[in-house]
Amino acid sequence: MKMCSRRDFVKLMGLAALTPMLPFSGSGAGYPSAMAADRNTGTYDIKHGEAQVIPIDENTWRIQEDMVRSFLLTGTKEALLIDSGFHVQSMKKLVEGLTDLPVKLLNTHADRDHVGGNNEFGTFYMSMAEASNYYHGENRKGTIVPVEHGDVLDLGDRELEIIGLPGHTPGSIGVLDVEKRVLISGDPIQDGNIYMFGVQREMHAYVLSLKRLEEYKDRFDTIYPAHGSFPVSPDLIAPLYTGVERILAGKVPGVDDNRNGTPIKKYDIGVATILGDAK
Ligand SMILES: [Zn+2]
Repeated sequence: MKMCSRRDFVKLMGLAALTPMLPFSGSGAGYPSAMAADRNTGTYDIKHGEAQVIPIDENTWRIQEDMVRSFLLTGTKEALLIDSGFHVQSMKKLVEGLTDLPVKLLNTHADRDHVGGNNEFGTFYMSMAEASNYYHGENRKGTIVPVEHGDVLDLGDRELEIIGLPGHTPGSIGVLDVEKRVLISGDPIQDGNIYMFGVQREMHAYVLSLKRLEEYKDRFDTIYPAHGSFPVSPDLIAPLYTGVERILAGKVPGVDDNRNGTPIKKYDIGVATILGDAK
């Protein structure tokens, strides 16, 4: 596997910036300014509460908010929204404006920046291992339709395979868009800050998930993460794995920091930053 530096990812990002963009605002007012170049931090020149809809191909859309992105995929029979965003006023209205097909929702996990629009949908695919994370959040309604590792969803001539990637949260999942050879990875595979502190998150599980992806490496050519640069290369996985292994072995010096008042340790592993427990 070829190793890839942050500089290589910047090149990938430059290509992504050429993708045509459509403005969308939750309030219907439109989004005036051009999107800033993708950055590792995942910070975009997009107003809080608004989103940009960026077509990736004829049946895939990227829905970009300031700090997180969701995806809409259509098949011949139905559409699937992967994550419901954070602050978009109505994610349901947004996606219904993009397709006439019935739209179902799947969550890669239940952190608040991925489930903002869930209450509008009522039911959603999610790993049952996320139930506690989901229902203990504020104002969380609806019913989980459980999916687990190995399940296949068919949108009609478009098969999506679920890959369990626990660690960032207990029920984090990735979605393999089989024919397009794309992995929609959620939070575990990305080049920004990867949140790994707190009781829900477990570095030992995360390292096994990264190892699990080895089995899949011949089945995808590109990765669409929820944060950080877009897209990223599968070459990111090997150095992430090595980096997390080195953290667990005590070989990466952590820097004291804090997130919203919680003391943490920040580990720079070259291709991403891991935010771990302070200990
Ligand atoms: Zn997230």
